Amino acid sequence: MRIHITYTGGTIGMIESPNGLVPGADMRGWLHRLITDAHLDPDLFSFTELDPLIDSSNATPDNWQTMIDDLRSHRDEADAFVVLHGTDTMSYSSAALSYALADFGKPVIFTGSQHPLGKIESDATANVTGALNAAMSGRFHGVGLFFGHHLFAGNRVSKSSSWAFEGFSAPSTGPLARTGTPWHWYAGSALQGEGWASPKPYTRHDVAVIDMAPGISAARLGAMLEPRPEAVLLRAYGVGNVPSDEPGLTDVIADVLHDGVPVVIASQCQQAEVLLGHYETGDAIARAGAIGSGDMTLEATYAKIMFLLSQGVDAADFGTWMTRSIAGEISPSSL
Ligand code: ASP
Repeated sequence: MRIHITYTGGTIGMIESPNGLVPGADMRGWLHRLITDAHLDPDLFSFTELDPLIDSSNATPDNWQTMIDDLRSHRDEADAFVVLHGTDTMSYSSAALSYALADFGKPVIFTGSQHPLGKIESDATANVTGALNAAMSGRFHGVGLFFGHHLFAGNRVSKSSSWAFEGFSAPSTGPLARTGTPWHWYAGSALQGEGWASPKPYTRHDVAVIDMAPGISAARLGAMLEPRPEAVLLRAYGVGNVPSDEPGLTDVIADVLHDGVPVVIASQCQQAEVLLGHYETGDAIARAGAIGSGDMTLEATYAKIMFLLSQGVDAADFGTWMTRSIAGEISPSSL
């Protein structure tokens, strides 16, 4: 089986500098040793180091597209793909690529590490070998993320710890598999979605991500929405509730919708099913046309908004596409 590895940056390949960790490790040499130590044939591996390597905190939709271009350009030469990525925004990238590569037909597994590869206590070896195993397993097709002994669907996962080796979790769906002798694969783990034919490249869009907090005023919310963004992702409470007693606050949301700007309501709960209208506190914005994010993660929701804007989906069709599964990112039962 031929494997292509795309190295984008992140802690896994960082070294100390006077200003903190920066990319600089010999990733190609380290991977070569790891592959030969595992008695795999290095000739079956190809490798791209993106330029520049980045801390994933600096990632934008342009970086997502650079990864997509690299994977597509190697599609015919490899059977499976591994993307080495920083942990901070790995779950945004894996969700973003799951939409754009819904037609790819070959496994793509993201991984990285909490500790650089050169450290004796690093989790880099375990994560990269796990990602390679998942990629070569023949049991997973789609965009996945392997980390801390678990394989997750790339659009169902969030970074849940800034320090633990089990740094990611999928609160709504759980993992697809966990390592062991043998690996344990969980039933019903196939990603199901309608796909997206001939996706246009990711481009940058002005999306406002705003959290509700007790005491937020209509004036403050209104100020955050001027000038109007192209779309709003509002992180509300519980099943999608906002402070409806706060004078004028739901009117601000209704005005934004009235101006033709899609407003997607997500939840601050990691494990959520957004059900607008379940409470009176979510009813007014539901009637104004706000779109609930179902059981999508924040990352999958944000990346999907960027994807739909990049595809040129207009406000009238936005709600339809947000709530349809492109690549298994949302459960129909959560709507
Ligand atoms: N700041 C790093 C990054 O996301 C963190 C990591 O890789 O663990 O690139």
